[in-house]
Amino acid sequence: MPARGSTTFDLTGDLAFVTGSSRGIGRSIAEGLLRAGAHVVLHGRDEGRLERTRQQFADQYGKRRVHAIAFDITDEPSVRAGIASIETEIGPITVLVNNAGVQHRVPMLELSLEDWERVIRTDLTAAFLVGREVAKAMVARRRGKMINIASVQTDLARPSIGAYTAAKGGVRNLTRAMTAEWAADNIQVNALAPGYIHTEMTQALVDDDAFNSWILGRTPAHRWGTTEDLVGPAVWLASSGSDFVNGQVIFVDGGMTVVV
Ligand code: NDP
Repeated sequence: MPARGSTTFDLTGDLAFVTGSSRGIGRSIAEGLLRAGAHVVLHGRDEGRLERTRQQFADQYGKRRVHAIAFDITDEPSVRAGIASIETEIGPITVLVNNAGVQHRVPMLELSLEDWERVIRTDLTAAFLVGREVAKAMVARRRGKMINIASVQTDLARPSIGAYTAAKGGVRNLTRAMTAEWAADNIQVNALAPGYIHTEMTQALVDDDAFNSWILGRTPAHRWGTTEDLVGPAVWLASSGSDFVNGQVIFVDGGMTVVV
């Protein structure tokens, strides 16, 4: 592996694994890390979609720098095998972005245990599972960056997304727990908490006129975020520019969480 980039935000020499990067926020973050010089491993479950993203990025950034692997982050044996295969066949992971997640919108009185567990397992437990497997190798090498994707729901609740809110609240303290255990091994773990970002996950909300106007009124920046809005903060948290930033949740939300 080449030496690490010498300027603050240069990721040359890094290998970044971004979960859920076949589309949406993860895709933009992966592309941002590629633009900053890193090699990237793309990920998702749908192999067709993943391959299309890999091909587009390989055409643009060179096929040597773009890899892809499909596995379910909620399944422990698949996580173990997936991380082991990246480490042995592609290279040592220096940056992990725990991004993959799901939403489930239903009033809590109608929320089944099965859906509660599916959301908690995908949005919280999987960040622990993938983080633990990657950290084993990072701790041994005494170097690594982890970025957990949280949400404004890490701090704020809203009706109909109870399981998601509980999971994203958990991501804050998982980030702190990882910091407490791994910061001394030179692993910086932080979280990015996006506001309302226009992706497939939020398309139904963008299409809902009442919700859309509420978002515009509720967000001081008076707009939806774009996936590109996450790139600068992600590159910073992946780079040596954040080497003494530990356990923080950085809100990228147009100011939503600082006003009532
Ligand atoms: P999308 O639904 O657009 O993309 C989700 C990605 O995660 C896809 O690549 C999907 O691939 C993958 N994924 C989902 N479940 C699994 C699984 N079990 N195993 C492996 N991969 C999986 O979501 P967004 O880009 O909108 O969201 C990304 C992250 O950002 C999530 O954690 C979300 O909670 C968070 N977030 C989003 C906000 C928004 O406004 N959009 C706001 C705040 C936070 P596949 O389906 O092929 O498995």
